Amino acid sequence: MGFTILRGGRVLDIAAGTAELADILIDGDTIREIGSPGIAAPVEAREIDADCRLIHPGLVNAHTHSHGNLAKGMGDRWTLELSLTASLWINGNRQLDDLRLSAQIGAIEMMMKGCTACYDLLFQWPMPTREGMAAVASAYAELGMRAVVAPMVADRTFFEAIPGLTEAMPVALRDQVSALRLAPGAATITAIRDALAGWTLDRDLVRPAVAPTIPHHCSDEFILGCAGLAQDFAVGLHSHVAESKVQAVASLRIYGKTQTAHLDALGVLGPHFTVAHGVWLDPDDMARLGDHGASVAHNPGSNMRLGCGLADARAMLERRVNLGIGTDGASCADNQNMYEAMRLASFASKVQGPEWQRWLTTREVALAATEGSARALGFGDRIGRIAPGWKADLVLLDLDHPNWIPLNDPVNQLVHSEDGAAVNSVMIGGRMVVENRRPVGVDLARLRERAQAARERLAAANADSRRLYQALEPVVGSYCPGLARMPYHVHRYGARPE
Ligand SMILES: [Zn+2]
Repeated sequence: MGFTILRGGRVLDIAAGTAELADILIDGDTIREIGSPGIAAPVEAREIDADCRLIHPGLVNAHTHSHGNLAKGMGDRWTLELSLTASLWINGNRQLDDLRLSAQIGAIEMMMKGCTACYDLLFQWPMPTREGMAAVASAYAELGMRAVVAPMVADRTFFEAIPGLTEAMPVALRDQVSALRLAPGAATITAIRDALAGWTLDRDLVRPAVAPTIPHHCSDEFILGCAGLAQDFAVGLHSHVAESKVQAVASLRIYGKTQTAHLDALGVLGPHFTVAHGVWLDPDDMARLGDHGASVAHNPGSNMRLGCGLADARAMLERRVNLGIGTDGASCADNQNMYEAMRLASFASKVQGPEWQRWLTTREVALAATEGSARALGFGDRIGRIAPGWKADLVLLDLDHPNWIPLNDPVNQLVHSEDGAAVNSVMIGGRMVVENRRPVGVDLARLRERAQAARERLAAANADSRRLYQALEPVVGSYCPGLARMPYHVHRYGARPE
């Protein structure tokens, strides 16, 4: 790929809070040198004029779902449990081309909005396949976006996982729901093993991981099977933990302890483990995660949209949890904008009380959305920072955009003022993926045609699942809040059902 030199930009150092004028010399996909304007470069180096640009490290989305992009905007007043009930309606009958297309839509949106890497938990019904993982992974690789691709798996459906839910249903509905079956756990584990063993893509760009979706949607044997795969192939583990109060209460019923305590007892926590959400973690849970060097992917936009609550990111940092930030999937967050996710992470901290010293700072938020997320992805030593030896994953913002007029404080404005509108160009591994606000090599009109056609076909194919959702909505929508109606501390410490 040769040398590239970016001249005359303001280079953001998040930790220092500065954005000094500097040149960046890139060798292939890696930053070689950062120096005062006018540093020497090899004569053959490609030169990029970064005058009037702020250059920040590419944002890293610590939690998303590629399948969600074809389902954006399909719901409104959904709790987490209603969105899980809607899953087969909004995600069902996906062919390999749909999985690829949905990943392309999300990757393009993320890159156009300054995000250069993501942790993607993808869903295939009734079980993952090597071909499905390859379709999604190759979508990222072809677009040049860095990604961790994890099949999101379970051996129990949502309806089987919530204590008493199916029993609360009218018989006709119970029969329909009981007919929905995931593949046996052993078959799913074998399919993932097959995909991991046959991985051909450059792991520096797109690598696999494993995502047992929600602990109590998985038997212990199945969780241990996933953890074994992660160990055998040296990849990450990612799970939705303590996302909703219903989930937290169901776990107390099933395990007699929290999801995190249960995962700890199973021995699956570690630096390779990422908790998605963690809204209902208690201080002991956070300490367990911190002690194991684990990460939390904080998704404040999704948590608000699904009414899950507000995660206490300050308490996590105090217990040495590695904090990353994510958008969550477009079916429950509706966009893939990491600037918005940062802004909401800041606001979600600040709205929790008047003790302003405990509020996240913009610096902490920006570090979480870069270095923290990168560590959760397993890329902690090479992306998320602009420094020699690190990958050239860079975003160039227009400083003559109103978001930056005037430039007062680069980190405050990155987190609180920027919304993606000032993104001019994006580079991943030294390669331009967005130039002059356009994704490179992408025909957006053609993408739209393909997506509209897929949308029409899927709407027809999933009509029965939509009707089933509509029949289930009043049952799930009243049973689940009822299950979690007492204050959490009563569920947790006071009146634990045995
Ligand atoms: Zn999720």
